[in-house]
Amino acid sequence: MPTGHHAFCRYEPAGVVVAIAPWNFPLMLETWKVAPALAWGNTVVLKPAEQSPSSATRLARLATAAGLPDGVLNVVQGVGEEVGAVLTLDPRADRVTFTGSSATGRTVAAAAAANLAPVSLELGGKSANVIMADCDLDVAVEWSVRAIFGNAGQVCLAGSRVFVQRPVYDEFVARFVAAADQLRLGDPRDPATSIGPLANEEHHRKVTGYFHDLPAGAKVLCGGPAGDGTWFVRPTVLVDVPPDARVCTEEVFGPVAVVTPFATEGEAVTLANATRYGLNAMVFTEHLRTAHRIAGRLRAGTVWVNCFNVRDMRAPFGGVGDSGIGREGGTFSREFFTEPKAVVVEP
Ligand code: NAD
Repeated sequence: MPTGHHAFCRYEPAGVVVAIAPWNFPLMLETWKVAPALAWGNTVVLKPAEQSPSSATRLARLATAAGLPDGVLNVVQGVGEEVGAVLTLDPRADRVTFTGSSATGRTVAAAAAANLAPVSLELGGKSANVIMADCDLDVAVEWSVRAIFGNAGQVCLAGSRVFVQRPVYDEFVARFVAAADQLRLGDPRDPATSIGPLANEEHHRKVTGYFHDLPAGAKVLCGGPAGDGTWFVRPTVLVDVPPDARVCTEEVFGPVAVVTPFATEGEAVTLANATRYGLNAMVFTEHLRTAHRIAGRLRAGTVWVNCFNVRDMRAPFGGVGDSGIGREGGTFSREFFTEPKAVVVEP
């Protein structure tokens, strides 16, 4: 560039953002989209999941009461295949940000592609939880329980595939099963409840289907469907499951963990990466070098070391492979929700 010119970047609003959200953490996931999109000067059309409509409407009412001008945050309710499809196909959509299943994500990406609208896709997961023999087992068990049984496993980040190094395998499994058995099922409105029922009948049917389809030899150490006509599934720990079983390869989205032993670090990485998903992973070890080495080798958007789902809103959030396209959070949200413009001024 000739000397003396002043080049700078303006981050201009992208325009109209279509935001589509799932039912499992409705308000939280909606705000992760709405807040940065508005902060960067866009207007938003938000479509919550048809199973969880009310928090989005309340959010919009609160925004109006707080003085947000009409038309800045719009909530459109409706069934995904109808209303969601119309929104993603609309040529007035300048950005489409979607959180939901990988199958729907493909449909949304294809719809947005027709208008060349950039998409951000936060999709499903089948996350690995790697327990090294040198870990603090109290820490590993506590976080592993939270990682798969929180929200009854209806979490994209759920640590559903647990890989444990052989020297601590038996002890980990014994403690993990004991902790799972202690979780209290009940009414989610009761503070003493650890696990509520699954979100709806259709989802309950999907999750319990995995129990009818377990391969020969698979052992259920604890849990299983409550079997009393309710939508509860008890915290479940499975072992001796072949890696190609459906419960190991597909996102169950329920309180079901498969625990598998491994010998070496390399074997753990190979097992962890043997999935089309790549949202996040966890590593439990007391050695910083081991943590860095394994974190570098795992194919995932986020790796949590000795913890789970600790979200720094400035950090990138998103996945690789079937877990999505793009990142949101901090400056990554700015890149997506704005149109950067280079301006070069002659001196
Ligand atoms: P879903 O894909 O069925 O629905 C998500 C949203 O998409 C809903 O609002 C739905 O109405 C809408 N939709 C459905 N069909 C559509 C279409 N053809 N066009 C446009 N929109 C359409 O997902 P779900 O069952 O509501 O949520 C569970 C899934 O979401 C799981 O796979 C979970 O892993 C994933 N999820 C991912 C994250 C993440 O951050 N990566 C977070 C939470 C949930």
